[in-house]
Amino acid sequence: MLVFTKLLSFFWCSRKPWLYGLLSVVTAVFLCFGSLKPGYSFDWQDLIYRGVQILQLSTISDEQEVTLGQQINQQLIEGEQIKLYSNPRINAYLNQIGQRLASNSDRPELPYTFQVVDDKSINAFATMGGMVYIHTGLMVAADNEAELASVVAHEIGHIVGRHALEHMRQRALAEGLLSATGLDQETAVQIGVELALHLPNSRDDELEADQLGLANLIRTGYAPVAMVTFMEKLQQQGGATPTILSTHPATSDRILALQQAIDPDTADVGEGLNSQAYQKFIRSLL
Ligand code: ZN
Repeated sequence: MLVFTKLLSFFWCSRKPWLYGLLSVVTAVFLCFGSLKPGYSFDWQDLIYRGVQILQLSTISDEQEVTLGQQINQQLIEGEQIKLYSNPRINAYLNQIGQRLASNSDRPELPYTFQVVDDKSINAFATMGGMVYIHTGLMVAADNEAELASVVAHEIGHIVGRHALEHMRQRALAEGLLSATGLDQETAVQIGVELALHLPNSRDDELEADQLGLANLIRTGYAPVAMVTFMEKLQQQGGATPTILSTHPATSDRILALQQAIDPDTADVGEGLNSQAYQKFIRSLL
C-alpha cells in the first residue's frame, strides 16, 4: 500500500485530478481483493469455475465425447481391466449386428465400436462416444441373435441417453474433482474407467435404455419379444445373480414395462429367433 500512497501524492501534486480519480479506483480494487484471505478468495473463484465446467461437461461435443470414449477404452485395455476376445469372426458378427442397430438409433452419426470381452460372466456395458462391450458369457447365454441384439440395443440406448456422461458429471461434482481450470481429461478418463467397471445405473436410466433399445430393435427388424425372453431367462436361472442384473436394477419392473410396450400380436414378428443359426455363428465360444 505504501507504493500506492506515494503514487497518489505524486499525481495529486502534479495537479491532474483525473489521474487521481483513476488511481482511487485502482486502489479501491486493490484494497478490496487484497483484504480477502487467500483461502477464501480461492474457494470463491473455484465456485465460479465449477459452474462453468459443469456447463462444459453437459454440453460436450460429439467429437470430445468420442475422444473421451476412445481414451477410456485404451485405459480399460492397457490397464488390463478388460481382455478383448480376439476371434475375428465373432467380432465381425457382433459388429455387423451392432452397426445395423446403431444406424437405426437416435444417434446414428456417432462412430460406434462394438467389442467382445473375453469374460464368462453374463454382462455388457457401454461408456460414451459409441463404445459398447459385450462379454463372451452373455453371447453364450443368449439363445438367438435377437436376444443378443436386444442387449446391444439396450447399451446403445445408454449412449443415446448420454447416461455415462451424466454419471461422470455427478461423480466429478460430488468428489470435488473439478479444479479451477475445469475437469482435466485425465481425471475424466479415470472416472470413465471406474464407471465402466462399476456402473451405478439408476432405475430411470435402465427404463429409458430399455425403451430406446426396444424401439431400435423393432426398427431394425428384430422380433421384440427377444428383449423380454432374455431378461426373464436371466432372472429365473438358478445360482448367483448374473452380473448384468446386479448392475441393472429393478428387473421385474423392467420386464413389466417392456411387456406393456410390446404389442402381443407382433411380439414374435421379426428376425433373429432362429436358435440353430445363432449357435453356428457363435460355435467357437461354445
Ligand atoms: Zn443398462
